Amino acid sequence: MNLSTPIEDVPNIGPVYKKRLKKLGINTINDLFFHFPRRYEDFSNLIPIEKLKINEVSTIQGQILAIETTKSWRKKIYVTEAVIKDKTGAVKAIWFNQPYLTRSLKVGDNVFLSGKVIISKKGTYLSNPIHEKGDSASWRTGDLTHTGRLIPIYPETVGLSSRWIRYILKPLLVHLEEQIYETLPKEIIKENDLMPINKALWEIHFPTTLKLSQKAQQRFSFEELFYIELFVLRERNRLSQEKSIPLPIKLDVIQDFVKSLSFKLTDAQKKSSWRILKDLEMPRPMNRLLEGDVGSGKTIVAAMASLNTIKQKYQVAFMAPTEILAKQHFGEVARLFSDFKVNIGLLTGKQDQFRSKKLKNQIIEISRKKLLEKTLAGEMDILIGTHALVQDKVKFGKLGLVILDEQHRFGVKQRAKLCQNQEVVPHLLSMTATPIPRTLALTIYGDLDLSIIDELPKGRKKVITKIIPPKERQETYQFVREEIKNKRQVFIVCPRVEKTEDEEQMSEAKLNWAKVKAVKDEYERLSKDIFPDLKLDILHGKMTPKEKERIMLAFKNKKIDILVSTSVVEVGIDIPNATIMIIEGAERFGLATLHQFRGRVGRGEHQSYCLLFTDSFSPKTRQRLKALITSEDGFSLAEKDLEIRGPGDFKGAKQWGIPDLMMSSLKDISLVEKTRELAKQILTDDPYLRKHPYFLDKLKQFRERIHLE
Ligand code: ADP
Ligand code: MG
Repeated sequence: MNLSTPIEDVPNIGPVYKKRLKKLGINTINDLFFHFPRRYEDFSNLIPIEKLKINEVSTIQGQILAIETTKSWRKKIYVTEAVIKDKTGAVKAIWFNQPYLTRSLKVGDNVFLSGKVIISKKGTYLSNPIHEKGDSASWRTGDLTHTGRLIPIYPETVGLSSRWIRYILKPLLVHLEEQIYETLPKEIIKENDLMPINKALWEIHFPTTLKLSQKAQQRFSFEELFYIELFVLRERNRLSQEKSIPLPIKLDVIQDFVKSLSFKLTDAQKKSSWRILKDLEMPRPMNRLLEGDVGSGKTIVAAMASLNTIKQKYQVAFMAPTEILAKQHFGEVARLFSDFKVNIGLLTGKQDQFRSKKLKNQIIEISRKKLLEKTLAGEMDILIGTHALVQDKVKFGKLGLVILDEQHRFGVKQRAKLCQNQEVVPHLLSMTATPIPRTLALTIYGDLDLSIIDELPKGRKKVITKIIPPKERQETYQFVREEIKNKRQVFIVCPRVEKTEDEEQMSEAKLNWAKVKAVKDEYERLSKDIFPDLKLDILHGKMTPKEKERIMLAFKNKKIDILVSTSVVEVGIDIPNATIMIIEGAERFGLATLHQFRGRVGRGEHQSYCLLFTDSFSPKTRQRLKALITSEDGFSLAEKDLEIRGPGDFKGAKQWGIPDLMMSSLKDISLVEKTRELAKQILTDDPYLRKHPYFLDKLKQFRERIHLE
């Protein structure tokens, strides 16, 4: 047996467990070693029975005097009761619904039990303690796996308990420890005072002290960030060596375009467009992320880049996350280019559309076949669509620029698809309304150049944000009524259903179901009890994309007064007539998410409101929600969010497959900078990593990990 032994060849792992492990991405013993716990339970307080205290977590060691399982008929649950004694006394232990315990635990057995003593109707007893066989004479705490020490709790999936993982993992670590080689160069380990890998693996799974487990985490965090940096910097280097089409700035056209607008560009828009136009002039592909709050006017910037590309006789592919957004962009682009001769196509699931310059910019329906022919022939100047653009059938004649709206990480594979039959790599402009904190911009987005539109067009009405305590609920509903009487529309977002620590076992499917239930209940309540006379409808993640689209369109066309939804309300959809955004259970959402919701309103000429419903009076919640009232700046809100809630909430962060335990290192700017510097140095000395074959291997794994989608 060695580290690359397939997991199913390990004794005690049958096909059922193999399947479950594969679900977690664990295929080999090595993968199991790098499946890190999310937290630890501290059972290291080993005490005599007479010293047990109510409600305190501790461990005892003793002999079983009696043990029996009975079934309570009334409640239909199994109850296992035992009495355990040591030299100082005896104590009762009770387990619920674990009848199999009496198969392994017998009278006379020596055991360790870890848990809490509680008092209830049944008396004073250890409640559902974790057990492990052993007597005090032959065991030292270091030998224990499940009790009497710090024990690891793993991210769980159905049917894979932490206990089972510990049981499999520990003997493997003992057995294979010698075979684990150091993965970081000696100098790096030394200079940064990192724990060597063998020790770190032991300490992260079975820590001797919390401090040492932290030191182990530090080592793996360092390594994780270092690989991310190495990956993104190398990607950057690689792209800078690719060839692309230099597209010189057509200043006259750009000036005509700017003149044709009914408003003045903001300084931030000018600055970012200039950067982008400059990038397009280069003989290597642009790779730029344009970040700007909802409504900051990113589309205009994208349009300018498109126009320049078209006037240099190249084509533009413009990809949106949903069909409704693709249609919206088509309409917007057609409007912006109304004075310019540009062929624009819309590739959707159903009716493809085409705006032809020959037909005096009329919009017509067109067959898919024709649309694709025109695209291949290079006649189509801009083709707008969803993921449908990355199909084999869609081939561009002369693709110069790819624009992605809200596609957080567009795989290299997909880009390659768009480039098929292109001689050179097209330029790439990615746009997002999600503000990305600095540490994340330097890590998971580190392969992209960044432009930020940090300024909203002048004269926008501020969305009025308010915290609504329970006693003002009725009043607020009255206000909603008045707005609807004035022909406005309203969003109501239902609370996020969260897994609590106790519900750790709650599966994803169950969680989704809980969300749907929450939104359905709220919808029922509102349409029966509160607004029986108004038109309400519902939107949630369990609906098919078609259903969702139908509802959004109906809302856009004012067929619905109030849209009750889960957090699926898509980013970017323009409903200028919606003026109220109500968020139920606002305390459960991150600030950045709340800010995104707020961005759904305030897009038209009318005064808009964002109303945060909350029952929570905790000072921390208040403080957090108040930040939203005082700040309109998505960036500072995102930074705050990262501070308070950690990076797990950021789309993109999850995709990198960073273990939960290491996620918090994405907040640590000094660690980010340190590892970035190191990766830079290594790449300067050895751009192709010829001296570091291990790194190359790791990067290959990385590539597979993040381009899965
Ligand atoms: P987003 O960044 O959310 O994609 P859009 O590009 O959709 O924003 O722009 C939002 C709205 O603001 C559009 O109706 C657009 O025409 C308008 N807009 C864009 N730039 C300006 C500006 N400089 N001044 C006034 N209105 C603008
Ligand atoms: Mg947009």
